[in-house]
Amino acid sequence: MIKTSAQHIESLRDGRQVYINGELVDDVTTHPAFSKTIEWLSKLYDFQHENQELMTTVDPESGERYNRIWQLPKSPEELKQRRAALEAWTGLSCGFLGRAPDHVASCISGMVMGIDRFKQYDAERAENLLNYYRYARDNDLYLTYVIINPQADRSKSAGEQKDEFLAAGIAAEDDEGLTIRGAKMLATGGIMANEVLVTCLQPLKKGEEEKYAVSFTIPMNAPGLKILSRKSYSEHNDSVFQNPLSSRFDENDALLYFDDVKVPWDRVFVHRDTDMCLAQFHETPAHVYQNYQAQIRLMVKMRFLAGVAYRTAEMNGIINFPPVRETLGQIAAEAAISESFVNGMENKGRYVGEYYVPDRHLLYAAQVVAQQLYPNFITRLRDLAGGGVIMLPSSTEDFANPEMRAMIEKTQQSPVADSEERVKFFNLAWDAIGSEFASRHTQYEMFYSGATFVTKGASFRTFDWKQSTGLLDSFASQYELKDEI
Ligand SMILES: Cc1cc2nc3c(=O)[nH]c(=O)nc-3n(C[C@H](O)[C@H](O)[C@H](O)COP(=O)(O)OP(=O)(O)OC[C@H]3O[C@@H](n4cnc5c(N)ncnc54)[C@H](O)[C@@H]3O)c2cc1C
Repeated sequence: MIKTSAQHIESLRDGRQVYINGELVDDVTTHPAFSKTIEWLSKLYDFQHENQELMTTVDPESGERYNRIWQLPKSPEELKQRRAALEAWTGLSCGFLGRAPDHVASCISGMVMGIDRFKQYDAERAENLLNYYRYARDNDLYLTYVIINPQADRSKSAGEQKDEFLAAGIAAEDDEGLTIRGAKMLATGGIMANEVLVTCLQPLKKGEEEKYAVSFTIPMNAPGLKILSRKSYSEHNDSVFQNPLSSRFDENDALLYFDDVKVPWDRVFVHRDTDMCLAQFHETPAHVYQNYQAQIRLMVKMRFLAGVAYRTAEMNGIINFPPVRETLGQIAAEAAISESFVNGMENKGRYVGEYYVPDRHLLYAAQVVAQQLYPNFITRLRDLAGGGVIMLPSSTEDFANPEMRAMIEKTQQSPVADSEERVKFFNLAWDAIGSEFASRHTQYEMFYSGATFVTKGASFRTFDWKQSTGLLDSFASQYELKDEI
C-alpha cells in the first residue's frame, strides 16, 4: 500500500496523548502548533502517488507497490535509484525535515539487511523484526525513534541516576510482554509519526542491561505513552510569506514518557542485552543506512543554502565584489563536499550478504565534517547578509496598510527585485539561517548523529589505519641511519 496525504492525516487522529502549553491536545491534526507541518508533511505521500516510478517499487511476492524508503538494494544501481527517491522527497522541504519518514525506515531496513545477526542472537526476535518490517512497509507507516536517554547527569550511567526510571526501562514482564516505565530524551517528528522504535544506543554498565537494554516498537497512541512537545516554532509564525520554513517544516521534538506502557512480545527485538542493542545498529547496515539518508538530506539542504547565499549577494548588489565571490566560492566548495561524500559512500559501498551498502568510514567522516561545516556555513551566510535579514516589515499586515506599503516600497530596494520580492526573499533567508527554527537546525546538524566525541570515535574505529601506517612503514623502510653514518 502507498498512502495518500488524507490517509496519513486520518491515521494521526488516534487518541495519542500529546501535551503542549500546559494542555493535553485533542487532535494534533487541527492544533495550531502542529497542523501546518502535518498538512505539509502529509503531502509527501501525495507526491509518491504522483511519481510512482521514482518513489516506489514493487514487491515481487504480492505485486504491491511500496515506498523506496523500504527498499533493500541489491546493487549500486538499486542504491542510486533509491537515493533518487530520497533526494526528490527531501528536495520538497529543501532538506529541512530531518526525520521525515525516510530516516527510521532506513534504519529498520538496514536491520533487516543484517537479519543474520538477529538470527544468531535469537530466532524468534529475528522473526519479530522481519514481520514488523513487512507490516510497516506494507502499511506505509511513518516511524520515528528514541535511542538516547534524558541528559540529567551525564557523568552517571542510566542506572546511577537519582531515579532508576528516569531513563525508560523494564518495570515488569509477563506472558503478554514488557511493561516500560521512564523517559527517552526526544523523538523528532514523533507527534506526526505513526509508530516509534525505542531502544538504547548508549553504553550501559554491567547489570544495567536487565532494565535498559531493550529494543521494540509501539504505536504513538499506545496506552500510557505521553508525548511532551517542546515549544512550537510554527504556532505563532503561521504566515508562510513571513516564515516560509518554520510555518510548515517544524517537525517538532518531543520527550516521550512511558507511564507503564505495555509492549507485546512480538514487538520486542532485543531483550535485556547490551551487546545486541549496539549490534542491531553497528553489526548490521542499520546505522550506516539511516545516516546515509541523513547525508542525502544534508546534501540537498547545503545546495539550497548555497542558493540563498548567491541570491543574497545578488539582492544586495555585492555579487561582483571579489571578496564576496571568494566567500561564494568557499560556500560552493563546502556544498560540494557534502555531495562528494554521498557519491563517495555509494561508489565505495560493499556487499553485506546480498545487499549493497554505502561505505561506513566515509559516512562517519561525513558526520564529523558536517558537525563543523554546518555552523560555519551558516555563519558565512549571515556574514553575507548583514542587517537586511533583520530590517524587514514587522508582518504581512504592514503591506496591507497603504501608507506603510508606500514606505516599504521606498525603503526596501534592490538592484534585482522589487520591494515585495526583496522582503519575501529576506524573510526566507532569515528563516533558514537565523530564526529560532534555523537555530534549532544548527543544533540538529551538530547533534543528531551524537556529540562530536561519538562521531569522531566512530571515524577513528572505522578508518583503514593499516593502509595508512603501511604506506608510512613502506616509505620509512627505504632509508636508515646507518646509511648515513
Ligand atoms: C534537534 C535535535 C533532534 C534530535 N532528534 C532525535 C531523535 O529523533 N531521536 C533520538 O533518539 N535522539 C534525537 N536527538 C538526540 C541526539 O541523539 C542527542 O542530542 C545526541 O546523541 C547527543 O546527546 P546529548 O544531547 O545527550 O548530548 P550529550 O551527550 O550530553 O553531550 C553534550 C556535550 O557534553 C559533553 N559530553 C557529554 N558526555 C561526554 C563524554 N562521555 N565525554 C566527553 N564529553 C562529553 C560534550 O561536550 C558534548 O558535546 C536529537 C537532538 C537534537 C539536538
